[in-house]
Amino acid sequence: MPEFDRHVLETLREPLEVGSITISRAAWQTDFPAACQLVAAMNPCPCGWRGDPAGRCRCTPESAARYLRKLSGPLLDRIDIQIEIPALPPAELAARASANAEPSAVIAARVQAARARQLERQGKPNRELSGRETDAVCRLDAAGETLLREAGERFGWSARAHYRVLKVARTIADLAGAPMPGAAHVAEAVQYRRVLAER
Ligand SMILES: [Zn+2]
Repeated sequence: MPEFDRHVLETLREPLEVGSITISRAAWQTDFPAACQLVAAMNPCPCGWRGDPAGRCRCTPESAARYLRKLSGPLLDRIDIQIEIPALPPAELAARASANAEPSAVIAARVQAARARQLERQGKPNRELSGRETDAVCRLDAAGETLLREAGERFGWSARAHYRVLKVARTIADLAGAPMPGAAHVAEAVQYRRVLAER
């Protein structure tokens, strides 16, 4: 992702927020539908070896910081799930490939059921909920409330980030078939937003 120019990346903000994009030219201006699911990947530094135990990274701290700065705070704010995937040693990789992993068809059925729950409850998927609607379907208990507030203070979340985390927690609860998101669902949603916040 950071190989793109920063201004190109910034144009993603509008479709990620409102699901459409406004194109302006001299004579006209028009909106195009652009609701999308963004899936993106990046390395931890330009060479890709930052944090490697064998010390193979040759990047300077400045060049690594410049690389990460390509993604602005407002853009990151709009990316709901941000996870770090460490490299696996070859032996572990081979062992995992042969392990009894859950089949994709089983996971797909669970996703479909979660989506059906959302449509039945509120007539639209969680991502389209307004702040007020999100509050109505996420009545947290005291533990969940405290967890969310403390994470928001620690990471300096915007109101947008707060509601996006809450909607991810709602979705995790839907996947589990839980009537309301609990502290465990909130904790999982918070985990998905800390990797880049802590850099
Ligand atoms: Zn490097």
